[in-house]
Amino acid sequence: MSFPTDLEIAESANIQHIKNIAEKIGIDNDDLEYYGKYKAKIPLKYIDEEKIKKAKLILVTAINPTPAGEGKTTVSVGLNDGLNKIGKKSIAVLREPSLGPVFGVKGGAAGGGYAQVIPMVDINLHFTGDFAAIEKANNLLSALIDNNLQNRKHSLNIDPRTIVWKRVMDMNDRSLRQIVVGLGGSNNGITREEGFNITPASEVMAILCLSQDFEDLKTRLGNIFVGYTFDKKPIFARDLKAENAMAILLKDAIKPNLVQSLEGNPAILHGGPFANIAQGTNTIIATKTGLSLADYVVTEAGFGADLGAEKFLHIKCHYGKMKPDAYVIVATIRALRYHGGAKKGEYETPNLPFVKNGIENLKKHIENGMKFGLKPIVAINRFATDSDEEITFIKEECEKMGVKAILAEEFTKGGAGMTELAEEVVYCASNCGNDFQPLYKVEDSVEYKIETIAKEVYGAETVVFSQKAKNQLKTIYDLGFDKVPICMAKTPKSLTDDETKIGRPSNFKITVREFEFAAGAGFIIPILGDMMRMPGLPSVPAAEGMTINKEGKILGLS
Ligand code: ADP
Ligand code: MG
Repeated sequence: MSFPTDLEIAESANIQHIKNIAEKIGIDNDDLEYYGKYKAKIPLKYIDEEKIKKAKLILVTAINPTPAGEGKTTVSVGLNDGLNKIGKKSIAVLREPSLGPVFGVKGGAAGGGYAQVIPMVDINLHFTGDFAAIEKANNLLSALIDNNLQNRKHSLNIDPRTIVWKRVMDMNDRSLRQIVVGLGGSNNGITREEGFNITPASEVMAILCLSQDFEDLKTRLGNIFVGYTFDKKPIFARDLKAENAMAILLKDAIKPNLVQSLEGNPAILHGGPFANIAQGTNTIIATKTGLSLADYVVTEAGFGADLGAEKFLHIKCHYGKMKPDAYVIVATIRALRYHGGAKKGEYETPNLPFVKNGIENLKKHIENGMKFGLKPIVAINRFATDSDEEITFIKEECEKMGVKAILAEEFTKGGAGMTELAEEVVYCASNCGNDFQPLYKVEDSVEYKIETIAKEVYGAETVVFSQKAKNQLKTIYDLGFDKVPICMAKTPKSLTDDETKIGRPSNFKITVREFEFAAGAGFIIPILGDMMRMPGLPSVPAAEGMTINKEGKILGLS
């Protein structure tokens, strides 16, 4: 019999009423804001700074991923089930998925196999409407900008050619990347070039994920940079008096969403920013809510550790005033084969020589974790094609570095396949001397901060700034916007800025082609390559394989 699909497993789960899950973590049923029987929002009053100090934060990251993903979400969900299985009070706190990829490439983003969060279909579709609210808040600002261009009486004198703010929609739709708005004569707006990003790429998403409360949210929304006036003065969202109305649209989206795993353990899913041009991790509010309600929180940072964990540690930990107590690096053997030189068609076949080469990528990520003062634990996310000799080799190599590598068998066994990893995480969160230190201070120069990431985390020799980047850097200093964290926009596939360079490259340079900045979210974005902000659909989109039957049951979403 073949292994059931994620949807089949999710649909056959014995799903509980969400009030039962809330009870386990001490939330009063009356406080829950129900979205049907299986989803609920948690009010902000559950954030408790004293409890946060005592709880342990476990960060799950990964080696440089192959396109299929190395299983960070799956391992995070499984580890949370494992922790609950060994009697710990633990919550998984993760991102909510975007609609775009659901209909594009096959695959939801709620874990997989026997380590999933449910209700799977709802989570992958509109969920509790947070993305829709973010989209509306983003597009309200766009409407206010275009209205100001039209309205001569209250004009801010914005030069339409300098507007960097774009509209967003949560769908893969490449034909909206570059458009013209305001066609059709003088009653229909000022004609200008525009474009759409996908909702996870909205700065409103990044802002929501870094905000502490409504006041902080409004300040950050007001700080969004829009463009310049004709006499070169910067214009921010607050100049359009946009921040209060935008915050109103986010009144519910700011509250974390409670769901459950297949094993009935609590999971909070909240926010979902991109991991290249944004910070790639769930909201600070959700992480703090989790830490207030449990003794352990398992959370994930998007892409590999060079992007996701670095940003988690330098951006989220900075604004959220938090630090991880345990650091888990997920590695799959198929990805190590890839980093060791395996070509398409060879990833799924045991091959020790490839793994021997490819382990250099894992070793670099282990060393990086140590540079941050953290003691990594390696989770080998087990696939059916892994051989015993490959597993033994990885364990021995990690042992030589003083690091434990433990098999994660969540996909086939759920929490029962994760107890060894859970025990080690519990031990390490208290006894491994984890003492996180950032590699740079926000007060350092922009150049120093970028060079530190490039040299220490990626292993680069030098950083080169293009002429365009140098000019933009001057603007950043002129605006007084330099004393914030850096959010590198780089390919996730390689430690370098060239996605074809596998393993652990050396003697390479990093080129900053241009800069963007998110004045509201609070970070500077050095662009190291072509960054996708609005994906397209593949020639055969996953949408084609889906249907809904006469009972309203959804098929083919997996
Ligand atoms: P990430 O969070 O790192 O992007 P995911 O956890 O979303 O990765 O996993 C990517 C895909 O791989 C999912 O479709 C998931 O079901 C699948 N997957 C994860 N772990 C395993 C495993 N051990 N065996 C088989 N498939 C897996
Ligand atoms: Mg994930």
